Amino acid sequence: MKRVAVLGATGSIGRQALEVIEANPGLELVAASSGSQPIDGLAPLTQVGGDPTELLERAEPEVVLNAIVGFAGVTATLWALERGVELALANKESLVAAGELALAARERGGGLLLPVDSEHSAVFQCLEGREPETVHSLVLTASGGPFRGRNRSELEDVTPDNALAHPTWQMGPKITVDSATLANKGLEVIEAHFLFGLPYDRIDVVVQPTSLVHALVRFRDGAALAHLGYPDMRVPISYALTYPDRAAVDVEPLDLASGLRLEFEPVDRDAFPMLGLARRAGQLGGTYPCAFNAANEVAVAAFLEGRLPFPGIPEVVEETLGQVDGVPAGDLDELVEADAKARRIAERGMALA
Ligand code: NAD
Ligand code: MG
Repeated sequence: MKRVAVLGATGSIGRQALEVIEANPGLELVAASSGSQPIDGLAPLTQVGGDPTELLERAEPEVVLNAIVGFAGVTATLWALERGVELALANKESLVAAGELALAARERGGGLLLPVDSEHSAVFQCLEGREPETVHSLVLTASGGPFRGRNRSELEDVTPDNALAHPTWQMGPKITVDSATLANKGLEVIEAHFLFGLPYDRIDVVVQPTSLVHALVRFRDGAALAHLGYPDMRVPISYALTYPDRAAVDVEPLDLASGLRLEFEPVDRDAFPMLGLARRAGQLGGTYPCAFNAANEVAVAAFLEGRLPFPGIPEVVEETLGQVDGVPAGDLDELVEADAKARRIAERGMALA
């Protein structure tokens, strides 16, 4: 029995993780946390709000599934990596923001870092057993979100309800808006950089509207391996929780002859500037990715509250990136300070606009 702690157990990923654990006799839920929703009796140990590492200290899990949304997940990510406790990571924001600190913690801890994000799980599986020097580049796929095909002016008046209607994935509100702006793919490019150690110019993005191809790895001999499957997060969740085994999951086998469409198209960089902004932040390094993430979180919250129009999201992020110093964080305190500073700049930018 593998002892699993699920952080963010009431969310979209968290609930699907509970299903996976329930269906797998090899997995035991020892602890569960949420940000604010009650979870009494869900697990032997539970915690609502507060610092999730307090729960982890008590629960002594073998695997931490970090499915918290946003920068709030950073302490749990660093906790697991530092101790060499296996980390199944859905909370991409923590790896984006903490990047170098997280890699250093993993180096010291020596444990596994297993991606739950579907694209990164796909890349991880395509890379398994290959030598790094044989890899040419990675390709992450994007569904394109609900606004695929629209131009910049057609995005001016879109509402939170429009943005929350994702064509292929059922997810929490923050990541759903991130998928509509393509900030999610931007975060994922940075996430891939830290997970797989490739420079940004070797991490590409392509739109694949049906979300059946999750990612590709291109090798130096011209071969490309792709990972396909119906869009169902239980697949990467189960893979991460049961690695290196591949436990059975109750999903239909992929049936390509049933009329599935596999079309690809480039990202419209003019209509969706968040991807380019994320790349720029990633390339600048230091705490620029942290600032990108912080400003995006502030802007998305404001958009969902009706305080910011949709095109304001990239404006707030670009403005914030232009004002922070990006100085690398030497420890968690400095990172938290960089995050807070970027949030203040983003809020001030919105108040002045
Ligand atoms: P969600 O909003 O549905 O759930 C978030 C969970 O985090 C909830 O349990 C909530 O109580 C908890 N939480 C929120 N704020 C917290 C705080 N300050 N402290 C502790 N817990 C807090 O989000 P989601 O869609 O499940 O996404 C979770 C993470 O997984 C995000 O980082 C997202 O980018 C990533 N992810 C999600 C999907 C998906 O299909 N939903 C796919 C890939 C990656
Ligand atoms: Mg993803």
